[in-house]
Amino acid sequence: MPKPSVNLGKLPPYLFAELDRKIDAAKEKGVDIINLGIGDPDLPTPAPVVKALQEAAADPATHNYSPYSFTIDYRKAAAAWMKSRFGVEADPATEILGLIGSKEGIAHIILAYVDPGDVVLCPSPGYPVYANYALLCGGTVHAMPLKAGNGFLPDFGAIPEETARRAKIMFLNYPNNPTGALADEKFIREALAYCRKYDILLCHDNAYSEMTFDGYRAPSFLSEADAKDICIEFFSLSKMYNMTGWRVGFAVGNAAALKALGLVKSNTDSGAFKAIQRAAAVALSKSDELTAGLNKIYAQRRDIVVAGLQNLGWDFTAGVATFYLWIPVPPGMDSAGFCEALFEKCGIVTAPGLGYGPAGEGFFRIALTVPEARLKEALSRMEKAGIRYGMKKAA
Ligand SMILES: *Cc1c(COP(=O)(O)O)cnc(C)c1O
Repeated sequence: MPKPSVNLGKLPPYLFAELDRKIDAAKEKGVDIINLGIGDPDLPTPAPVVKALQEAAADPATHNYSPYSFTIDYRKAAAAWMKSRFGVEADPATEILGLIGSKEGIAHIILAYVDPGDVVLCPSPGYPVYANYALLCGGTVHAMPLKAGNGFLPDFGAIPEETARRAKIMFLNYPNNPTGALADEKFIREALAYCRKYDILLCHDNAYSEMTFDGYRAPSFLSEADAKDICIEFFSLSKMYNMTGWRVGFAVGNAAALKALGLVKSNTDSGAFKAIQRAAAVALSKSDELTAGLNKIYAQRRDIVVAGLQNLGWDFTAGVATFYLWIPVPPGMDSAGFCEALFEKCGIVTAPGLGYGPAGEGFFRIALTVPEARLKEALSRMEKAGIRYGMKKAA
């Protein structure tokens, strides 16, 4: 057998393979595991969306190839949602492109723009696909640390001038996975101005725009004047409407960037099943109605965990977006060690911050993707096992 490519060999080792093995072994033994490690909604896709899929699947007109950029009806539904939700005008023919999940588009925009040696600016901690796909394409990753002291926003002034000049793409993601942080208008303008200055395509991953609480509404970067000159935004129906398995999203914004992305896609895939597109259009048309109830559930779960952690000594308050909590590990412990202790002593799976990049060290991530009773059970197991903020590293 020939060897896989050099670029494939550049992917970082999967740090938590050992933990995964332990989880599998424990499951095998019948241990009652509480998995707070994965950002995958536990609740079902809303009934009107499932019904739309069932009806569409029975219509033979949905059974052949879709246009690779998705049907014009789907793109029109996405454009109508952008207009009603954010006041953003987008031409469905040139400024919207359907995606088989936003992960697919995030990867392929890198393939469309990055030549060997080009720099991709990636947040750290961040969604791993940004940096890993840049490596697969032979690009050079420049990590932008997101520090608590700066509201988990990158400091553009810390990027060396020469790196900025070699950069083709900057990824940002607010509301943020894994930190839950938000971007305000001042920061968005700063990011757009920076990317305009250095001629960098700003790719904003807005996967959590609809998962917000306590009255907060997340912005679109495209609401800013002339943002479309330099920016595209990725939206995903996955987390918004409990549709992770359906694989559907879209990109919106700069027409030249979407044309380049479309060219990659037309040589890679052939769109999504048209019945899924029809159901996804129904979801977008009922967006606020579908998300209101879900967000109430996540906010209640958040409040339970925050109160429980405070009771265990954490000086921690949560934000108003995403179903993630990004929590400091007890002093003197590292993220992998703490997550391992949580698993060994309590059967609780969480995500160590280091898995999201070196700047994620010192934190762990909880996903609020289990029912309230299980969250309470997790907190009570922690209390019984002596897992507290001030705990000493296990001997
Ligand atoms: C879940 C997630 C995605 C991918 O969503 P899909 O549309 O399911 O591919 C992209 N970005 C972030 C930050 C995510 O958390």
